[in-house]
Amino acid sequence: MTKNTHRFPAWLKQRIGAGAEFQHTQKTLQKLGLETICTNANCPNRGDCWSRGTATVLILGKICTRNCKFCSVGHGRPLPPDPTEPERVSALAKEMRLRYLVITSVDRDDLPDGGAGHFRRVIQTCRQENPELEFELLVPDFRDCQEQALEILSDCRPFVFGHNIETVPRLYPSARPGGDYRRSLALLKKAKERWPETQTKSALMLGLGETDEEIRQVLMDLRSECCDRVAMGQYLRPDKNSLQVEEFVTPEKFNQWAAAARQLGFSWVMASPFTRSSYHAEEKASG
Ligand code: SF4
Repeated sequence: MTKNTHRFPAWLKQRIGAGAEFQHTQKTLQKLGLETICTNANCPNRGDCWSRGTATVLILGKICTRNCKFCSVGHGRPLPPDPTEPERVSALAKEMRLRYLVITSVDRDDLPDGGAGHFRRVIQTCRQENPELEFELLVPDFRDCQEQALEILSDCRPFVFGHNIETVPRLYPSARPGGDYRRSLALLKKAKERWPETQTKSALMLGLGETDEEIRQVLMDLRSECCDRVAMGQYLRPDKNSLQVEEFVTPEKFNQWAAAARQLGFSWVMASPFTRSSYHAEEKASG
């Protein structure tokens, strides 16, 4: 662990990609007018992921109805869902010959179904053109409509169902003021109860000031709600308005957390400074 957060430790220096595949990914996204969480959240892995021809598509616009303090996605009043978006996502999958697609969205508390119907349209449209495509959904907490949203998504499985717990409950008021730790756990539990065959997944960021005991408790809470997969990565401040980094967690410590998570029974684990919930999501084995 290092507490001096003014200077990046050596293990957090990452090269931004500029190779041919990176350019191709960038141009294809631009041409299709698609948003990604990679750019909107200032993800440090763009060089790596885009050079491998993968990206995480951000649907339902780039204006979020929440204002999480760890996230740089804009917030305010979003536009209605774009009916052309499912076709454009499908074209992306086809053009990039994707076999695995991670789709996420901003929080859409303004929509009665939280945006679930739009997720469904995207999946169904993509499947018509790309029947082999596998999906991973990284969904919001569907605040007032969890059962309704799960019902809507029921007929477009299989997919990995992800919802990020993000941080420990003590830090929710400062980091995720519109969220609720128990509500997020409840969504994962409800998904598992409805769809026992579906892999559920969550992720948390380390370095926001949480203690080891608190992290361990979150992992235990996730397992007790039958969450199957977990990703843990270093929180990095995405812009100057976001929360400060309180701690740089060492790669060795991440390895310890990976071992602890496996011991708790997670079937897929990824834990490293650069891990994000969508990072190497297509890999089957735990890393
Ligand atoms: S880790 Fe996820 S959000 Fe980051 S660049 Fe890769 S696909 Fe995009």
